[in-house]
Amino acid sequence: MDEDLSHRYAAVKAALEAAAKAAGRTPDAAALVAVSKTHGPEAIRPVIAAGQRIFGENRVQEAKAKWPSLRAETPDLELRLIGPLQSNKAGEAVALFDVIETVDREKIAAALAAEMERQGRRLRLYVQVNTGEEPQKAGIAPGEALAFVERCRTVHGLAIEGLMCIPPAEDDPAPHFQLLARLARQAGLERLSMGMSGDFETAVAHGATSVRVGSAIFGQREAYGG
Ligand SMILES: *Cc1c(COP(=O)(O)O)cnc(C)c1O
Repeated sequence: MDEDLSHRYAAVKAALEAAAKAAGRTPDAAALVAVSKTHGPEAIRPVIAAGQRIFGENRVQEAKAKWPSLRAETPDLELRLIGPLQSNKAGEAVALFDVIETVDREKIAAALAAEMERQGRRLRLYVQVNTGEEPQKAGIAPGEALAFVERCRTVHGLAIEGLMCIPPAEDDPAPHFQLLARLARQAGLERLSMGMSGDFETAVAHGATSVRVGSAIFGQREAYGG
């Protein structure tokens, strides 16, 4: 295994456990989602070999090109979609992913419900909340989140597992994590997907049950990957 990669992966795992313990939580309280977007199988395989099983990708097409062969090699992988989903890609997304973290509007909820029914697959789903109310960012507005989760359940028959957020890059993330945790409590949801390379320890302190870490493990991405 590439020495830098192996050191970075071990360091992230150790920091995640330490953050959980410091918060008075069990060491494995927050699962690590390794965000492999823009990185090819040659970078991903060593991380799988080191024991990592949960991976996140932000584009359906890119994931489709990379993951079927990796999954054939290691059947117990879990793949999460953490980027925006277009309803015309719902079929491909349901076929490929185990978890979709970016449910944020009626049209997507309806498309996922229809595709899961058609394919006989039950994915685990998160509602993405735009905690910073940024116009260019995906996610449901905080003030609409509870009603949307309820409509996912009652209108679309979807079991929502938790909430996900991406705080504005320039903000202190802590208030965003607190807001997401409060909304989840109000909605009766136990899972919180929050925290990235720069702020996962803060997220764990605020109750994250999974953190999405890319560059701290894989190194910097090529510019095109966003
Ligand atoms: C890219 C990405 C991440 C990982 O970001 P890093 O800063 O590289 O850890 C996490 N969440 C989402 C939604 C992403 O798109």
